[in-house]
Amino acid sequence: MTTPSREFRLIHDYFSGHQACPRELVVPIGDDAAVIDWDASGQLVVCSDTLNQGIHFPDTTLPYDIAWKALAVNISDLAAMGATPVYFTLSLSLPAADATWLSSFSEGLFAAAGEFNIILVGGDTTRGPLSVAVTAIGSVAPAQAVRRCGASVGDGIYVTGSLGEAAAALALLSRGEVAGNDHRPYLMQRLNRPLPRLAWGQLLAAHASAMIDISDGLCADLGHILQQSGVGARVEIARLPLSASLNACVDKAEARSCALTGGDDYELCLTVAAEREQALAVTGRENDIVLTRIGSIESEPGLRLLDDQGAVISMDRQGWDHFA
Ligand code: ADP
Ligand code: MG
Repeated sequence: MTTPSREFRLIHDYFSGHQACPRELVVPIGDDAAVIDWDASGQLVVCSDTLNQGIHFPDTTLPYDIAWKALAVNISDLAAMGATPVYFTLSLSLPAADATWLSSFSEGLFAAAGEFNIILVGGDTTRGPLSVAVTAIGSVAPAQAVRRCGASVGDGIYVTGSLGEAAAALALLSRGEVAGNDHRPYLMQRLNRPLPRLAWGQLLAAHASAMIDISDGLCADLGHILQQSGVGARVEIARLPLSASLNACVDKAEARSCALTGGDDYELCLTVAAEREQALAVTGRENDIVLTRIGSIESEPGLRLLDDQGAVISMDRQGWDHFA
């Protein structure tokens, strides 16, 4: 289950590894963010993510929410490195200059920027199909950034928060299942106004051997950790953190499928060495971090999903691949 997706093949073939890696480039292309040695007190962390209308958000998404999400998904990549946000740029492609749309977009953008404590320092504005690209810059103390490549056999696999809610919200929207259910607004909130685990990422970084944010679905993103660490894993499906709201809106099979392969969770997935798991539990308790151990790292390559009886099940969809 850890064969590279077409999107990653494309990046590998055409963009990564085409230049010599300077000594100060501590983490090059291939992780949630690049890490660059800056001075003795810290390292720069840089990431970039784009939201395109109709692909990353439905046509009906409010401009406020588009802006919030465009910034939040980048903050999530900084969180996965254990970094602190500092500055960002915004490149906006707009079909038209609509003042009402722009004022709502701006309101959402600066609400998110205030929430995540990050400052807009530039960007670009062009006419074209609606697309929002953000580049975020953060900082991290030397040697504190957590990569995808550090998982070892025997490590526990943990996820923060709960999974599958944004994917379920999208499924409900696409089926037109808008009718009343008290849990639905919460699911829509998870889809449209993600709250990346920034503070948790910084605390978890001290314990994690590898970490990634879950943006393309648990199986796909854990798959990147496995591939880059040269290991495999088992995950017990019954241990997946599924919220009461998710269970109230979709059946068990769909909830599990959303949690395993749906996108847009913006939770963190991390691996932790056995001897650090107790310290992790203490950090989790003291800081009210919602943390679930879902499986463990094994030497046999690939991801094995175990059903309620402990039997290995096969999955037909791993996660979101833009070029699949
Ligand atoms: P994430 O899901 O964490 O945002 P991506 O899947 O978007 O990560 O990208 C994987 C890695 O490939 C990242 O390190 C990213 O910076 C890099 N990357 C993606 N597209 C390009 C590109 N066109 N040129 C250079 N690097 C890229
Ligand atoms: Mg990421």
